[in-house]
Amino acid sequence: MIRVKNGVAIHGGVGTIPADDMTADMAAAYRETLRQSLLAGHAALQGGGSSVDAVAEAVAVMEDSPLFNAGRGSNLDEHGVVTMDASIMRGSDLDAGAIAGVTDVRNPITLARLVMERSPHLFLIGGGAEAFARAQGIPSTENSWFHTERRIAELHRARERGGARPAEVLGDVNPIDQAGTVGAVAIDASGTLAAATSTGGMANKTAGRVGDSPIIGAGTYASDLCAVSCTGWGEYFIRNAAAFDVHARMRHAGVSLDAATHGVIFETLGAQVPRSGGMVAMDAHGHVDFCFNTPGMYRGWVNEHGTVSVGIYAGD
Ligand code: ASP
Repeated sequence: MIRVKNGVAIHGGVGTIPADDMTADMAAAYRETLRQSLLAGHAALQGGGSSVDAVAEAVAVMEDSPLFNAGRGSNLDEHGVVTMDASIMRGSDLDAGAIAGVTDVRNPITLARLVMERSPHLFLIGGGAEAFARAQGIPSTENSWFHTERRIAELHRARERGGARPAEVLGDVNPIDQAGTVGAVAIDASGTLAAATSTGGMANKTAGRVGDSPIIGAGTYASDLCAVSCTGWGEYFIRNAAAFDVHARMRHAGVSLDAATHGVIFETLGAQVPRSGGMVAMDAHGHVDFCFNTPGMYRGWVNEHGTVSVGIYAGD
């Protein structure tokens, strides 16, 4: 099992482009962005930053990339609007921040962090979250800035399919249809764990739909035992309190990190719906686990020496 002392692990979603359709250029672009994300998290930790700094920096790099379904490049809802969800949590004191349904904030993870640090609340949505962003000095970004040709095409295909389920679950695969929520977990020099997740949700989602990503305990969780960020079919992750269940299994059943993630992803979620998703998780010893019941998950880790490893498919 991978172990880091002062390190970061990330995912860029389970909706990997099928291996047969993945060009060398596309794979290289994904790998390079994952690497940049990890290096940003590593730089934060090396500079004496906290695990919260590291996960926020790592996620922001993937939000800025049009490759992933978060920030720029997010999926569009049924009206062709990008609405984004994000959350962040610190394991040492269970402090957390979350936002949902935000249309004009370039880095949703930054706003989630500000909710955690500068508001008396934990979760802000829609217009209220956007007003809070303005009050915190975050400028408004035109919704069209988040749109990419790839996601517009995915919206059209999702409309034709008549649903908002992730293509990889339906098996109705177009090579570039897939979701790509992003997330990170980290441990810092003080041993504090943190987790963060950011998404545009599902293509053609009903206006107002919120997935698991901003829900503490569903898409994101951090405690003294573990940090978890999920990706996949959000409704199932919410029903099963997936991220919290990793913590609960470790706390109450005394199992290891990988036994806990395996139980949640394969025994609970996998039994309910095939290819439902995955997660990146880290324990208080810095063990890293990537667990997914899909053909792949964009992912990677960096340790205290700056050694980086990235992967896309199950065998990588
Ligand atoms: N979990 C996300 C959601 O349901 C989608 C994803 O992981 O790509 O909104």
